[in-house]
Amino acid sequence: MNDKNKNLFKLSQKFIPGGVNSPVRAFSSVGGTPIFFKKGLGSKLWDENDKEYIDYINSWGPMILGHSHPEVIKSVQKVAKNSLSFGAPTSRELDMAEILVKLVPSIEQVRLVSSGTEATMSAIRVARGFTSRDRIVKFEGCYHGHADSLLVKAGSGALTFGQPSSAGVPKDIAKHTHTLTFNDIEGLEKCFNKMGEKIACVIIEPIVGNMNLILPHIKFLKKLRKLCTKYGAILIFDEVMTGFRVALGGAQDLYGVIPDMTTLGKIIGGGLPVGAFGGRKDIMQKLAPLGPVYQAGTLSGNPVAVAAGLKTLELIQKPNFYKQLSLNTKELVDGMKEGARKKGIAFSARSVGGMFGIYFREVPPNSFDEIMKSDREKFNLFFHSMLKQGIYFGPSAFEAGFVSAAHSKKDIKDTIKASYKAFESISD
Ligand SMILES: *Cc1c(COP(=O)(O)O)cnc(C)c1O
Repeated sequence: MNDKNKNLFKLSQKFIPGGVNSPVRAFSSVGGTPIFFKKGLGSKLWDENDKEYIDYINSWGPMILGHSHPEVIKSVQKVAKNSLSFGAPTSRELDMAEILVKLVPSIEQVRLVSSGTEATMSAIRVARGFTSRDRIVKFEGCYHGHADSLLVKAGSGALTFGQPSSAGVPKDIAKHTHTLTFNDIEGLEKCFNKMGEKIACVIIEPIVGNMNLILPHIKFLKKLRKLCTKYGAILIFDEVMTGFRVALGGAQDLYGVIPDMTTLGKIIGGGLPVGAFGGRKDIMQKLAPLGPVYQAGTLSGNPVAVAAGLKTLELIQKPNFYKQLSLNTKELVDGMKEGARKKGIAFSARSVGGMFGIYFREVPPNSFDEIMKSDREKFNLFFHSMLKQGIYFGPSAFEAGFVSAAHSKKDIKDTIKASYKAFESISD
């Protein structure tokens, strides 16, 4: 068969580094050829060979209503007719800001940007400007986009200077970033004891979706909140993924731990490029033009992107939206667990809201170390068996999965059925 995916990937590699515009798309972790998609509708995708898939990536989260939702598309088309961009204020940006302030507990004021990376980068700058401090703290396994100061890993030995985790990041920038262990209260206390009054901010994924799916210990989050308050460090929840995904008010609402600032992205753009950072008014007022912290964007608050986001945020506020989404996601996860058990595969899984994690190990992991110990080879075999059967999961053992409101009972059933086959094929 003439495999168009293969041909396109070959050609793409000639013109685009690695053939992709974002590394995980290249399938390097699972092997094989990335799929080139040409159409999505509801829960389904079609690739260049016209093969159909049930989609559990949902563009890494944004497509919570499924692909090509008719109301979202209509809204985008309507707004697009009146120009694609003004670079000047529009009333829809105000609507968006009002909704975000209403729904996200920590947000009193908010500014729109065009990606999650921009949101975290800007939140850190304003936190530094507000506190007049340089140091930032993050956690191993959390991902906050690709700004220089966040592409940093722990140095050797606890509490040493951070090391760049990517070439091109100056050591002088990385040294201001300290990387701690997620869910480790002791490490957190040590760090604050040593340098609490030098920390500008702590940034964290309150539920981690970037090392598969790791849940926080509630005690850990509460301790973090307490220490930040005590030492005057700004607590930033990076809810680019979890915002409007795990619950309408995000992870902060779910756990009742309220940060000083929140970053958003993904779902709030409904599939178009939007990010946002917001929080306490006294902090946000440090931003230009009011204050000394510079931050800007030619396409920030872009009318078409905001239209997609607004319609998406409107539709997910329908009664029982998250209840139904959570139930469907849990059904999927439970079904797969049962399949693995029957085939004697070491497998565990969990879900929160419309997000799930699957792990090739006996019990769900609670830390970066534990997730690193899951059986990657088994995952890769599972992934390819599912893909062959038309089920599209994230091409890495370290990515969370996403269910949308468009996934039907039949989609879930078909996926569970496919998983039985996949487990069968890898049982030894
Ligand atoms: C996706 C993601 C980002 C980065 O967002 P981009 O839009 O890809 O720049 C930041 N933080 C978290 C938690 C994310 O999941």
